[in-house]
Amino acid sequence: MDIEDMTIKFPCPECQQEFRVSIHQLLDGGVIMCPECQATNVETELVSIARGLEELGRSLENLKKCLDYRFRLQY
Ligand SMILES: [Zn+2]
Repeated sequence: MDIEDMTIKFPCPECQQEFRVSIHQLLDGGVIMCPECQATNVETELVSIARGLEELGRSLENLKKCLDYRFRLQY
């Protein structure tokens, strides 16, 4: 399975509705929009994504580093 095809569950900061975002979408750097309320400030919650990736295990360590580089995540 291609890592970019994986999806992570993501809680919307506005309406708390969880929706799935693909790794490909994240790496692509495009706007991530909540399907429920159309909030586009979802990127500000990328720390949650980082935590989610952590839970996926050490095999995704490189991907996490890539995300750190792209978005300068703070822990
Ligand atoms: Zn929402």
